[in-house]
Amino acid sequence: MPVLLMEPDSYGKRRRYSEILMEPRRWLQPTLEDVKQRLKEIRNYSLDHLDELVSQLTASLAAYPEVEITFARDAGQAMETIRGIAGGGKIAINKSAVIGSELVPTLVASGYNVIESYYDQFEPFDNRPSEYWQLPVMTFESRFQSFERPVDLAALRSGSIQKNGTKDFIGLLGVNAISAQGTVLMLQHMPNISKVFEQAKELILVAGLDKIVKSLDDAIFQTKCMAIFGSEVLPLTLHGKAKRESSIDELPFEIPPEQTLASIHLILLDNGRSQILQSPYKELLACIDCRACNGACPAYLSDKPLTPSELPLKFRKDLLEIGTDLSESKGDINKPFMSVEAKKDEIWDCTTCGNCNEVCPVGVKHVDTIKALRGSMVMEKAVMPSTVSRTLKSIEDRGHPWRGTTLTRTDWAHGLDIKTLAEDSDTDILYWVGCTEALENKSVNIAKAMGKLFKLAGIKAGILGTEESCCGEPARHLGNEYLFQIQARKNIELMRSYNVKKIVTACPHCYNTIKNEYPDFGGEFEVINHTQFIANLLNEGKLRIHEGERRVVTYHDPCYLGRYNGIYELPRQILNSMSVIFVEMKLNRERGFCCGGGGGHMWLEENLGRRIGEMRFEQAIDTGAQILATACPFCRQMFDEAAQAKSVKKSLKVMDIAELLDGQ
Ligand code: SF4
Ligand code: SF4
Repeated sequence: MPVLLMEPDSYGKRRRYSEILMEPRRWLQPTLEDVKQRLKEIRNYSLDHLDELVSQLTASLAAYPEVEITFARDAGQAMETIRGIAGGGKIAINKSAVIGSELVPTLVASGYNVIESYYDQFEPFDNRPSEYWQLPVMTFESRFQSFERPVDLAALRSGSIQKNGTKDFIGLLGVNAISAQGTVLMLQHMPNISKVFEQAKELILVAGLDKIVKSLDDAIFQTKCMAIFGSEVLPLTLHGKAKRESSIDELPFEIPPEQTLASIHLILLDNGRSQILQSPYKELLACIDCRACNGACPAYLSDKPLTPSELPLKFRKDLLEIGTDLSESKGDINKPFMSVEAKKDEIWDCTTCGNCNEVCPVGVKHVDTIKALRGSMVMEKAVMPSTVSRTLKSIEDRGHPWRGTTLTRTDWAHGLDIKTLAEDSDTDILYWVGCTEALENKSVNIAKAMGKLFKLAGIKAGILGTEESCCGEPARHLGNEYLFQIQARKNIELMRSYNVKKIVTACPHCYNTIKNEYPDFGGEFEVINHTQFIANLLNEGKLRIHEGERRVVTYHDPCYLGRYNGIYELPRQILNSMSVIFVEMKLNRERGFCCGGGGGHMWLEENLGRRIGEMRFEQAIDTGAQILATACPFCRQMFDEAAQAKSVKKSLKVMDIAELLDGQ
């Protein structure tokens, strides 16, 4: 059986990868989207034709008598096979999810000495994950490099055995892809896998059923994609391995060639895959385990328990453990049914920033999964951190999440000549203030700046005042869908009663909710974010910028303005039209790093790991800017807190774009 090993080439030799990758369009340089598209096609084909591919593979492998193939329904059956081959003793593994997450816990519990062969090759990574962005980031071009020509590991193995014999350990390796014609593809970044092939006395390969693909080309493509998308996160995977276990390098060659079987065992592992394929959660199987999502995740990078790449597998496990009738969910992601006790911390770590979705090459929707899990905890089990229940209670009792505020909804408006719609409903726009800009001490400056801008531009804006109630976004993101819907319906009814048509808001969370989610409840309004509104006023000449001191300004993209609504350029246009020197942060636009305040985190405690807001603030400091501008009250507050943190050595001023404009 051919077993091919892929390894990203060294820098000098990297070229023409695109030709190999995108054949037959060999003269075209593929875009990242092209690659994602082709990968999705490959993954969808595999998931849609699983039975057919299994039959084809089984028939193909009959041509290779040296391969002993076993079908394992679950991890327990796989373990029986492993035990039958290995007895007890040492097992060297690679870092594939199918081995690490599905089999290793049982191996360890059964007393096996598990050696992670990866670490034989690597000095522990010194940098903290939080310093991840200081590493040289691979450019898009460098990701499209050629690979070494595939090495035939089966041939390598028999050659090595004839020369040296083998060592006393079993190799247990997860494969990246296997073609229906019977060629196995594996990826290594260091010679760990080839070493296991050369030295193990017995070899067991494990392929999740979903990893069977239509053709060798597809298998190669899928394997390369794992390297392309996972390359940036590789150092993080290695981080923290302070102490080595026993190493296969330390073992002597002691088993002579004649006592070594050159046979290869192949376990085709179902472990719930065929069941999940019948469920609405089929997309979870599209994951290729590249771990790009980890490298983008602020929770993971700030040393919190959440590891987004593990979510598809954990979610799958839940479905299996509780043996749920999958038809129960009827495709409704909002009707979750998984056990959640084991995930208490990690589920609450997520800021819903969407960066994982952004980088995932196959479009796994982590945020939907996390929200479904939160829903299950809050709505079905009433298990949640106390800060979550207090926030939800505050929305329920007071119509806002800012428990303990001494401000009223209209304090900020004193002297600004803005009336409530109850006083005068004949206005150009409704200014939707949002709870934070009305009730949080520093964020009121944004509302005040907006009030002044309306006046300067001659716009007649009205507010809802004490009638305005939380848009419901924190409730939905903290798992209380019921409360969200109450808030949404209440606000929609109120705005309809005033015949509101056009809404301007400076809060991207309210903006996203009213614009994109209220229509599901009949709330159809024209919703405009304040950056859009200000940019229009500037274009129309209704606002004028005065020359002033040229300060150095950088901009933080709020996730709910950028990734969720694609507004990246307007804030930059506004800043560039001001009297400032604009500098960009390294992680910007689609790859912008979260402030840590989304997903209800404005009101949750952040006790584990580093504070995400401080990490982002330090990235802003690194630009040398004097001012960190943003366009969201949550971001503004997270950075205000970061600016006061003892661990942050330098500081810079934090301002919303509206405040900055107000000062010009
Ligand atoms: S949404 Fe953001 S915080 Fe949540 S898992 Fe994805 S990257 Fe991590
Ligand atoms: S979820 Fe997406 S980004 Fe994360 S490991 Fe899987 S394929 Fe890669």
